[in-house]
Amino acid sequence: MQPDPTQRLRIGKTVFSLSFTATPLAVRRGLVAFETYLAGLPIAPERRDNICIVLAEALKIKELDVTVVTRGAHVMNLLDAETANLTTMALERNGVAVRANVSATAIERGQDFDTVVLSDGTRLDADLIVLAIGVEPDTGFVEAAGITTERGAIVIDEHGRTSADHVWAAGDAVISTDAVTGAKHPVPLAWPANRTGRLIADAIADPATARKVPNPLSTAIIRIFDQTVAHTGANRKALDAAGIRYKSLHLHPAHHAGYYPGAQQIHMLVLIDPENGKLLGAQAIGAEGVDKRIDVLATAMRAGMTVEDLIDLDLSYSPPYGQARDPINLVGLLGQNVLQGTIKLWFVEDFENAMAKTLLLDVRSAFEFERGHLPGALNVPHTELRDRMDEVLEAAAGRPVSAYCYSGVRSYNAYRVLAAAGLDAATLSGGLMSLQAAAPELVLEK
Ligand SMILES: Cc1cc2nc3c(=O)[nH]c(=O)nc-3n(C[C@H](O)[C@H](O)[C@H](O)COP(=O)(O)OP(=O)(O)OC[C@H]3O[C@@H](n4cnc5c(N)ncnc54)[C@H](O)[C@@H]3O)c2cc1C
Repeated sequence: MQPDPTQRLRIGKTVFSLSFTATPLAVRRGLVAFETYLAGLPIAPERRDNICIVLAEALKIKELDVTVVTRGAHVMNLLDAETANLTTMALERNGVAVRANVSATAIERGQDFDTVVLSDGTRLDADLIVLAIGVEPDTGFVEAAGITTERGAIVIDEHGRTSADHVWAAGDAVISTDAVTGAKHPVPLAWPANRTGRLIADAIADPATARKVPNPLSTAIIRIFDQTVAHTGANRKALDAAGIRYKSLHLHPAHHAGYYPGAQQIHMLVLIDPENGKLLGAQAIGAEGVDKRIDVLATAMRAGMTVEDLIDLDLSYSPPYGQARDPINLVGLLGQNVLQGTIKLWFVEDFENAMAKTLLLDVRSAFEFERGHLPGALNVPHTELRDRMDEVLEAAAGRPVSAYCYSGVRSYNAYRVLAAAGLDAATLSGGLMSLQAAAPELVLEK
């Protein structure tokens, strides 16, 4: 049956506009999924675009041309730039086009296809247009009953009670308090909804012993072709908004022993409190083992553990499953180094200063250096550093040294040598891999 070309689905207060001129899965041209509000409308801070990405993947697997358009700087606004850009790369590698930093301003209806007009003038012809712009709870009838709501979401107490006697609420329509930042926003995820239902039943049946509804960590996971991306807790934007200080840890460990066939890198970003090491948030993307690591970190966060406590976790290990030092243990070891000051990190936001005022020291092999390096960097492989320290001192000419390698491991070793030699040094967090993920526009010198 041909779908009605004017079909409109109303879900909550959001209108999903499904506009197609043929059976969608039979067409191939210009399918556009976009997850931005049309220009002029506000973007809700709790906006989640995971489902847009999942949809884009599913439609691409069905061999449709898919473009994801987002007004934000990158897809998946609950991720920070480096993880989000790796997500974009995974989409693009698999043939999904991504247009960031641009708004959809109009949809022009046509005879054979429709056209989405973007704020930069680009016109995207589309057989199917999906507005994945988030949902707002349709709580008008709740408000009409005099029940307290906040920005349209139902306010509940720690046992799920609304402001009306004998009325409880759970799920996407209620407002939650973020476990890390204390910010108030709905958390449209399945387990918090389920869990609250169970806890409300307890509160009704046996109020004396009922446990409180915990504040959600908003742990979430999606598959993007051969990659998995997952996150828990807060990202940098949410921490900045809440005025919470943090330190970023970047790691790229293999998901199991490197010598065992099939080892895959996990790109991890973990945010910690720089004073007490409390875990504030984590994001990871990779082909294998992402779910396990994010779930362990979510568990550790719920238990109130610090980053150093991760060193103490006895995680299962044999070569096909993990490493003797599991990526989670490595987060703990790196975090401890940062807290104790045995490593000093520099980040993408320090890049201009590092270029202008420090010696950039590339400690990779000469072969890697020749294939592309940061502009003006001196190459001294970390294995030669002790013997060539005079060269470094001369090039530094009293300036601090910003060391880097590909993933951050070799430049950590180099950092220790430089610091022992009395130099004011720092090592690039996560190496070139994290720098290029955070700033894909960066061009290496050859
Ligand atoms: C496509 C999609 C994929 C998702 N994938 C994930 C995922 O992978 N992981 C995850 O954690 N979350 C996921 N979610 C989110 C998750 O489904 C929701 O967070 C969860 O279902 C919320 O539960 P709820 O009880 O609040 O609402 P719902 O599950 O939507 O239940 C609400 C019910 O109320 C009914 N209803 C609505 N209005 C009225 C009314 N006036 N009178 C009577 N009944 C009414 C509805 O028909 C519905 O049955 C996904 C959501 C979508 C849409």
